[in-house]
Amino acid sequence: MTRVSRTSFDAIVAGAGPAGSTTAYRLARGGASVLLVDRARFPRDKPCGGAVTGRALRLLPFSIDPVVESVPDRFELRLRGERRGGQQLDSPFVWITQRRLLDAFLVEQAVAAGVRFEDGTRVGGVEETADGPVVELAGRSVRCRALIVAEGANGTTSRALGLAAPRLRNVALEGNASYERVPAQLDRRGFTIEIGTVSGGYAWVVPKRDHVNFGVGGWEREGPFLRDHLRRLCESFGTSLDDLSDLRGHRLPMGGLHTGRLARGRVLAVGDAAGLVDPFSGDGMYEAFLSGSLAAQATLDLLAARVRDLDAYDAAVRGHLAAGFDVSWLAKLALDRFPGLAYAVIRSGVGRRLAERALRGDEPSAAAERLARTGTALFRRLASDATLARAA
Ligand SMILES: Cc1cc2nc3c(=O)[nH]c(=O)nc-3n(C[C@H](O)[C@H](O)[C@H](O)COP(=O)(O)OP(=O)(O)OC[C@H]3O[C@@H](n4cnc5c(N)ncnc54)[C@H](O)[C@@H]3O)c2cc1C
Repeated sequence: MTRVSRTSFDAIVAGAGPAGSTTAYRLARGGASVLLVDRARFPRDKPCGGAVTGRALRLLPFSIDPVVESVPDRFELRLRGERRGGQQLDSPFVWITQRRLLDAFLVEQAVAAGVRFEDGTRVGGVEETADGPVVELAGRSVRCRALIVAEGANGTTSRALGLAAPRLRNVALEGNASYERVPAQLDRRGFTIEIGTVSGGYAWVVPKRDHVNFGVGGWEREGPFLRDHLRRLCESFGTSLDDLSDLRGHRLPMGGLHTGRLARGRVLAVGDAAGLVDPFSGDGMYEAFLSGSLAAQATLDLLAARVRDLDAYDAAVRGHLAAGFDVSWLAKLALDRFPGLAYAVIRSGVGRRLAERALRGDEPSAAAERLARTGTALFRRLASDATLARAA
């Protein structure tokens, strides 16, 4: 990594995960001078199932084929450890990668588009001046006309700038077992989701090229029990917790749309830094790519003096995500209270096809749109922020 000597850029992007690197890529493609920084040295890993949904893939302006390890065509949904066998998918809806590979690949695309990248560089603070934000980077001050905060779940800059700071989080614990440690009959072409055991979430088993990823996640209060959930999951697959390497926990920030503005003046937050993980599916890469694309658009408008601030970004994100999140919150609460019913609905032909279509990013069917409308109306009648806070 070479430190840049320039003292000003059109845009600085803090954090080089999927949200930050794709925002930086789009800004550079739009003609902006961009500095992308990350406090970690790259390539770096990140606790994640590494499942990129079809709807997320569709948002990317380039293919990620070089870092895709498998494309499962079978899916098993389990209720409380009970095995029913996998179901054949009509067509794939997730592409499996490893975050160490994906994130480095996305940064490479950004650099090829003209972005200056510094890893091992932490954003220490931000001063907002009349000429734009001044960002503190390891003892240097670098000025920009717009700052994109993409620091993920553990960053502090969004909160410091008064942007959305999610109060609701899921926690997850995951680890990897090499194929020598799992029984030979494990279906390498399928992946498994188990519901009904971890409150506010689920357990997953995702086969990758040279290992299997086992994970569990749920409401924050599940934290102390995650190890036991993971142990039981491993045992039900004929392996043991002791056989997992790289055991790591991490947060999934949710509910950002309920906790404040995503943009103000010349600063905005994208991806996990804005609390945009889907409450039901727990995937955040779709939201990272989507918010990154909307952020780049708002920033290019600002840089071209078509607008005076980044405020339009907040409305754009809400316009794309709010209704779907309402349905997700409802589904999450329903899953918690009635896991057996949720299992039956998802496993039924109609439920499974609706979920598959949504995750694949297919045009919603009339039935899906009706369901979304009913879900949203029901959610708005039944739940408030306070209900959600109590549930968590
Ligand atoms: C266990 C687990 C499993 C998951 N599985 C999936 C899945 O299968 N599919 C899916 O779509 N989503 C999944 N998610 C969610 C997904 O990982 C996140 O939503 C996604 O990584 C968000 O991307 P991001 O770019 O916003 O943040 P991140 O990927 O977290 O990137 C943030 C970056 O900011 C950097 N940073 C932080 N602070 C600073 C600072 N002060 N200065 C400079 N840099 C900083 C960090 O080093 C990091 O590289 C999972 C999450 C967890 C915890």
